[in-house]
Amino acid sequence: MKKFKFCPMCAAPLVERVKDRVECSADCGFVNYDNPTPVAAVVVEYEGNIVLAHNRSWPNNFYGLITGFVDHREGPAQCAVREVKEELDLDATPATLIGVYPFERMNQVIIGYHVQATGTITLNEELDSFKLMPPEECVVWPAGTGYALRDWLRSQGVEPEMMTLP
Ligand SMILES: [Zn+2]
Repeated sequence: MKKFKFCPMCAAPLVERVKDRVECSADCGFVNYDNPTPVAAVVVEYEGNIVLAHNRSWPNNFYGLITGFVDHREGPAQCAVREVKEELDLDATPATLIGVYPFERMNQVIIGYHVQATGTITLNEELDSFKLMPPEECVVWPAGTGYALRDWLRSQGVEPEMMTLP
């Protein structure tokens, strides 16, 4: 949980008078709900394969979906298409919703989309490698984005193997 010390509205100290409810001590009305952040996660289908990418900040062997924070005044489906362009330099079809998944550890809500994409893959600075996986060979992982991939694969009649995390 983010630890604000002062009210972002009036700068008075924040207090926790009731457990797990952090609010303004000057009673300006501010409560720090610490709402989860919406993140679009995209199952990118490219020439019949799924694009799994490795973020520079991740452990070496983990490849995941294309993800990004939904911008101010941006729709999550629009965010999905934008992230595919920014991170892979691919042009995506309009994004189709797969499902919405909690990702409590990061205080995020994962909004899973599928797109088909065309072009030539060029990674941006956040990513350092990618893999193209046939749907039948995808292994999924037990977290928000992995469930989105699982559910899309199931919609294609593929029941993926679930990886066990240490
Ligand atoms: Zn206040």
